[in-house]
Amino acid sequence: MKTVHCAAVDLGATSGRVIVGGWGRRGLALTEVHRFPNQFRSLAGREYWDLPYLWSEVRAGLAKAKRRFPRLASVGVDGWAVDHVLVDARGRPAFPVHAYRDTRTLAASERLGLRGIDKVYALTGIPNYPYNTSLQLQETLAAFPGMRGVAERCLFVPDYFNFLLCGRMVNELSIASHSQLLDVNGADWSPAALRHFGIPSGWLGKPALSPRRLGGVTGIAELKGVVSVLVPGHDTACAFAAMPAAPDGSDLFLSSGTWSLLGIESDVPLLGRDALMERISNERSGDGRYRPLKSCLGLWLLEKVLAGFSTRPGSASAWKALIAAAARARPPEDLLDLTDAALFNPPSMRAAIDAQLRRRGAVLPRDLAGYARLICASLGRGHADAVHALERLSGRQFRRIVIVGGGSQNRLLCRATADAAGLPVASYALEGAAVGNIASQLIALGAVRDIAAFRAAYSPQLRKEEYLPR
Ligand code: ADP
Repeated sequence: MKTVHCAAVDLGATSGRVIVGGWGRRGLALTEVHRFPNQFRSLAGREYWDLPYLWSEVRAGLAKAKRRFPRLASVGVDGWAVDHVLVDARGRPAFPVHAYRDTRTLAASERLGLRGIDKVYALTGIPNYPYNTSLQLQETLAAFPGMRGVAERCLFVPDYFNFLLCGRMVNELSIASHSQLLDVNGADWSPAALRHFGIPSGWLGKPALSPRRLGGVTGIAELKGVVSVLVPGHDTACAFAAMPAAPDGSDLFLSSGTWSLLGIESDVPLLGRDALMERISNERSGDGRYRPLKSCLGLWLLEKVLAGFSTRPGSASAWKALIAAAARARPPEDLLDLTDAALFNPPSMRAAIDAQLRRRGAVLPRDLAGYARLICASLGRGHADAVHALERLSGRQFRRIVIVGGGSQNRLLCRATADAAGLPVASYALEGAAVGNIASQLIALGAVRDIAAFRAAYSPQLRKEEYLPR
């Protein structure tokens, strides 16, 4: 068996990377060939992504990948959801690309929460997030009504990078599904949702299932002969695809990083009043199946507390020491209310946590270890609540929680999750999004049959830790 090399372009809101996967007799070998920081920048109170910069880094990374792996077969792009590029017929950006943290949609999101969200949720299966593409496009058209006659297409960020690579404009399904514009009961756009937000239907092409070949790379001279593959554009869809889940559907998926994304794979969406109250987001896999998930505040809480203590573990051993100290700290009597809006983006996370605890008359942690312990225990409880909501709404029983992402390395968090949920936790050290991206390319190239076959072949290669509930 000859080794097949595929390059994953994985665009994150804070960093992007190009990772090459070599699939051969010994399984999958990953090489990170390029990593670059990413950030949105402010201009007169609005937040924008820097597309020329991102493209120059992607180009440099792919050229490096091709130099190191001259037989590079293909490239696929995944990234964060909801943000998009409005382009003219030739693909020239017609409007600056706003970042999802921009506040331009907050007021409209509040209005939608008061009126209309029940209908929109029934149509799209996506709860009310201020950053949804639906609200962003609505705001763009309200501020610039002429845009209707200027832009020809709306491409999500990974769709746009695929266009730069191979010249084809394709809206991929998984990334389309987070927009709050896709029909939750089908695989096409919802005319009623487009009407609700006043968005021209011609801007969006029929969503394409993935993975599949798009064509040869034409946008980077050095990549002649490399195939551009449409992979699930949404990084979370890629991360879920990579997880070594049991084939019988008995696993819950937890991607634990800045956010905690806890979900399941399902043939049907989870809808109705209860699902909306639980804020279940019915996102999609590349093949059109559903990935109902709950998105909760995650380890960003710890990141922000660390900023307040002006120390951040700089190595795996420093992280280990912090987590060990936290495990020795006094167990908290009261856990954090993770739905408290004051925790979303406070100037000081420590002060916001203290304020919440004081309001309840609870004891404040004494030091960093105490805060880390409180945060891990609270996130564990949040994960357990999400598990119970998904069990209740799906009517299914799950046997295990599979956890990937930075949080999979946090033993205290894994333990707190297992104990609170009453389920075993299996933690895997796995570059989730990049691996799912590469697996999808291998399927499109015919080197692997499907995701189930990839999971079965790849999981024995992974380092796993198990935490049984106590
Ligand atoms: P994202 O992709 O959402 O930015 P990651 O999956 O990279 O996030 O996870 C980042 C988080 O993982 C950090 O905030 C930190 O809490 C945790 N983390 C990273 N490395 C370690 C480690 N070695 N031990 C424990 N926790 C870690």
